Amino acid sequence: MTRKVKVILEIRTNCECCNKDLPPESREATICSFECTFCLSCAQKLEFNCPNCGGEMVRRPPRAVDLLDRYPASATRVFKPEGCKNVLDELSRDTQ
Ligand SMILES: [Zn+2]
Ligand SMILES: [Zn+2]
Repeated sequence: MTRKVKVILEIRTNCECCNKDLPPESREATICSFECTFCLSCAQKLEFNCPNCGGEMVRRPPRAVDLLDRYPASATRVFKPEGCKNVLDELSRDTQ
């Protein structure tokens, strides 16, 4: 018997790179498989590679507003500008 654990996507409400607000219904949020969360413009700059785990970032589907009562967004805000900055520095070095 396998035990079924229901995992609900944690929705973080800001970009780790620039701290931009990304509400659960936002259509410009991207996440990696570890749910590191970035706004679309940072994700594009990072070439959709997560600076924390190297994983691929994909667009986060917006959560329907009427589900937010039962499944609220995460209250945790993660803000790690250093990680992004390192990657962006490297990318800009590559292109020079
Ligand atoms: Zn951002
Ligand atoms: Zn990640």
